Amino acid sequence: MQDKLETIAKKIAQGGRNIVFTGAGISTESGIPDFRSQGGIWDQYRPVYFDEFMSSRDARIRYWDQKIAMWDGLEKARPNLGHMALAKLFNLGLLDAVITQNIDGLHQESGIPGDKVIELHGNTRRVRCMTCGEVSTVAAAKKRIEHGDPAPDCHCGGYLKPDTISFGQAMPHAEVERATELSASCDFFLVVGSTLVVHPAALMPEYARRAGAFLAIVNLSETPYDKACHVLVREKAGPVLETIADMVEELRK
Ligand code: NAD
Repeated sequence: MQDKLETIAKKIAQGGRNIVFTGAGISTESGIPDFRSQGGIWDQYRPVYFDEFMSSRDARIRYWDQKIAMWDGLEKARPNLGHMALAKLFNLGLLDAVITQNIDGLHQESGIPGDKVIELHGNTRRVRCMTCGEVSTVAAAKKRIEHGDPAPDCHCGGYLKPDTISFGQAMPHAEVERATELSASCDFFLVVGSTLVVHPAALMPEYARRAGAFLAIVNLSETPYDKACHVLVREKAGPVLETIADMVEELRK
C-alpha cells in the first residue's frame, strides 16, 4: 500500500494539471452517510423525482421533510482529514480543481475557493426558485417551515427547492461543461469515494483516461474503472489522503 501512495504522491508533486473527483465517500468520515452503502440514504428515504416535485404539493412537502432531516446531520458536519488533505494540496499549488458529486459544501469549508470546486449536483446549503431562479438561504426556508409553511413558495409564486439536482432534473450545463473540459485535459485524475455509476459525472474518469492522464482511485468498494486505473487503493479516504498530502509536501521540500 505504501508503494501505491508514493506513486500517487510523486504524480501529484510533478505539478501537472491535477484534478480530484469526489463522491459521497469522502464525506462519510464527516458523519454524512453515502447513498449506496448499507445504512445509506436510500435505505431510509424514497427519493422524490423532479416531475413529482413540480406537479404535486404533497411531493414537495415530502421533499422538504427529507431535506430538513438531512440538514440536521449536515449542520454538524465538518471537513475531515480527506477534505483537509485536498485543501493542503491546493495550497501547495498542486491541485487545479475539485469536481464533486457532493452537495455538502465541505470542500469550500476546508478552504478550497468556491470557483475551484465544480459541483455537478448542486449544493444543499442553497435554495433556488424554480421559476425566477433567485437564490436564497436554507435558514430563511427553514424558518418558514418551522412557522407552519411545509413547502414554501417564492415571492414570485414559483416553488422554492434546495439547490440540488433531483432524479429526473437536468444537470447544470456550465458545470458539466467545465468538468468535462478539465477532465479531458488533465495529466492526473484522482477519484475519491465514488461508485462512479451516476452519469454524466461517472464519465469524467473516462475523459481523463482517453486524454492519457494518470488515473488513481481511492474507494472502499468496487467501481467500473478498477481495472482501467493505474493505481487502486481500497482503503478509507481520510488517512490515505492525509498520508499522500504529507508525502507530497516532503517531495516538494
Ligand atoms: P455513492 O454512495 O454511490 O458511493 C460512495 C462510495 O464511497 C462507495 O463506493 C463507498 O464504498 C465509498 N466510501 C464510503 N466511505 C468511504 C471512505 N471513508 N473512504 C473511501 N471510500 C468510501 O456516492 P456517489 O458515487 O457520490 O454518487 C451518488 C450521489 O450521492 C451523488 O449524486 C451525490 O450528489 C450524492 N450524495 C452526496 C452526499 C454528500 O454531499 N456528502 C451524500 C450522499 C449522497
